[in-house]
Amino acid sequence: MNNYHHKKKLGQHFLKDKNIIRKIVDIADVQENEYIWEIGPGKGILTEELINRNCNLTCFEIDENLYPLLEDSFSNKIHLIKKDILKVNWEEIFPHEQIKIVANLPFQITSPFLFRVAKYAQHFSNVVVMIQKEVAQRINAKVGTKDYGILTLKMQYYFTPEYEFTVKSHLFKPAPKVDSAVISLTPRMDKPEIENEKFFWHIVETAFRNRRKMLRRNLREIISKAKIEKLNEYCPIDLSRRGETLNEKEFIELYKAIKGL
Ligand code: SAM
Repeated sequence: MNNYHHKKKLGQHFLKDKNIIRKIVDIADVQENEYIWEIGPGKGILTEELINRNCNLTCFEIDENLYPLLEDSFSNKIHLIKKDILKVNWEEIFPHEQIKIVANLPFQITSPFLFRVAKYAQHFSNVVVMIQKEVAQRINAKVGTKDYGILTLKMQYYFTPEYEFTVKSHLFKPAPKVDSAVISLTPRMDKPEIENEKFFWHIVETAFRNRRKMLRRNLREIISKAKIEKLNEYCPIDLSRRGETLNEKEFIELYKAIKGL
């Protein structure tokens, strides 16, 4: 396996440093018998440390060339799902207990994967993942900055994100072009109660459709001009603002005002 040909399109940058692996598993505070999902075990450097903690481990790996190695190394110690994590129907496999996700995520699926995690947030007790540093910064961004966007709002709505530490690119084989970061996402206890979350996120997405445009312009996509005029009369949010300047609380006010039209 030393001459293994890494597949860039599958985000195959394998970690070399076991100290980082231990740090990740410690942050996740993996306990005996806990349900853990690892996405992309690769050659198993993180898998091995998770097995040491005697957890109940399910691994999802897309690359069939890695199956023999994973089966030889871990045989019945893991439940290996030989599929694309995004093509698995999670609802069919969720256990009754909550799950922790611990993974060095493949770069190319980071956003769709995290959006899926947000959709099923109630199933997860903690999410500790390595992602591109730039994405970690977007998740932790402050309102009004260039990094602030839908990913920020969605992750901060369901979770309390923590930027744990940076991982330099030379610690991977092959080295990616950019540095990575480990983040943790802990389910938020004070998540706002929103009656129609689907509609709320539709409004947020519309408000960010064109970042340079005012809310009143972007919102034209979902409300008529006449209704925008009406909204303008009583909405607590000034519609000449841009979506990127609104924090969560203000988006909720906007949503309530639109719902009341
Ligand atoms: N866990 C190993 C490590 O830390 O060195 C490998 C991590 S590597 C960044 C990402 C892994 O995810 C690769 O093994 C790759 O084949 C796998 N992978 C890529 N896309 C996937 C997908 N959609 N579903 C499941 N696994 C995927």
